[in-house]
Amino acid sequence: TDPDNIKPGMLNSLAERSMPLCMKQLHSALNREHKLKHWGRLQYGLFLKGAGLSVDDAMAFWQAMFTKIMGLDQFQKQYAYNVRHMYGKEGKRTNYTPYSCLKIIMGNPPAAGDHHGCPYRHYDEDHLSSLLSQVRIGATDKDAILRQVKSKNYQLACQRHFEATHKGYEASGVSTDGVGNHPNAWMHASMEFHKE
Ligand code: SF4
Repeated sequence: TDPDNIKPGMLNSLAERSMPLCMKQLHSALNREHKLKHWGRLQYGLFLKGAGLSVDDAMAFWQAMFTKIMGLDQFQKQYAYNVRHMYGKEGKRTNYTPYSCLKIIMGNPPAAGDHHGCPYRHYDEDHLSSLLSQVRIGATDKDAILRQVKSKNYQLACQRHFEATHKGYEASGVSTDGVGNHPNAWMHASMEFHKE
């Protein structure tokens, strides 16, 4: 996907209308708890990098979040390296790529207190169902999504979430290639749809 050059100030509204469920969850957990554990930081941090958030903006964003519950000193000692590392600015300077859906779905499942993973794959039905209501998915769409999940078609469930929240996307001519395969493709298609 093309980088969209997003800025930290756009993230709340992007989370609201243009992020797939996995990233919405990470964004709201970060807003609520002002920190994320290791796998959550990686999943969300690399996603934001893939969406074009610069390393300086990423540093400012994570710092602003984490320093709501810790001193600047602690952030710089324990977490700043992490952010630079994701952007290949530390250690082996590997250029880490954002995780695909398959990687997230097959990856290690979230433990208590974790917010990473794929909600379709990793949440139980009740939790997923109430989450879908929370994000205002109507009953018919919700049933269709939960049916896909029951058949273990997690990525199709995610596509269905896109369709349910972008009514009329077929007529808009926006390409939905990769929606359900990559979280960045999902957001990119949504941003195109909303012409952001
Ligand atoms: Fe995220 Fe992919 Fe799961 Fe959708 S299918 S919630 S984009 S991991």
